[in-house]
Amino acid sequence: MNTITPCAACKLLRRRCAHECPFSPYFSPLEPQKFSAVHKVFGASNVSKMLMEVPEPQRADAANSLVYEANIRLRDPIYGCMGAISALQQQVQALEEELQALRAEILKQKYRQNSESIMPPTPHSGISSTGVVSVAVPPPIPTPSPPPHAPSTSSSSMYTPPSCSTDYSSITNENAPYYG
Ligand SMILES: [Zn+2]
Repeated sequence: MNTITPCAACKLLRRRCAHECPFSPYFSPLEPQKFSAVHKVFGASNVSKMLMEVPEPQRADAANSLVYEANIRLRDPIYGCMGAISALQQQVQALEEELQALRAEILKQKYRQNSESIMPPTPHSGISSTGVVSVAVPPPIPTPSPPPHAPSTSSSSMYTPPSCSTDYSSITNENAPYYG
């Protein structure tokens, strides 16, 4: 079967892809860049040795991790996978420090809230409780306006009729003698 279409390894190495080719199950000819990466970094014979040392059910995972490591080594020839690992470790450290700072902030806020909620029930809190009461009282003040109006209107209505009658009577009384 594989003699017709050799695996990516055999195609690159220009050799006949035998039935027991160690690469053919893991390096498809459709993805030739995978084998070229591991070949450049580890060498074909080392790759086949590493695959053979692993139990067969896990060889696909081993081949994939070798491809991953080889690609990163090709991209970062100095640090390779170590570069990615240390960058992630720095990220973890920075996030842990941030988390610690946030936890400390949360503890501070909780402590503040607890101290505020504990304050009122204690006997020392007379000032704060009276302050709260005085703040709650002010709203229902605007009642005193009606009383002044009521007395004034009632008094005016009460007093005007007599004054008018006396004025008329006085005028008529004054006029009468003047005419007479
Ligand atoms: Zn092959």
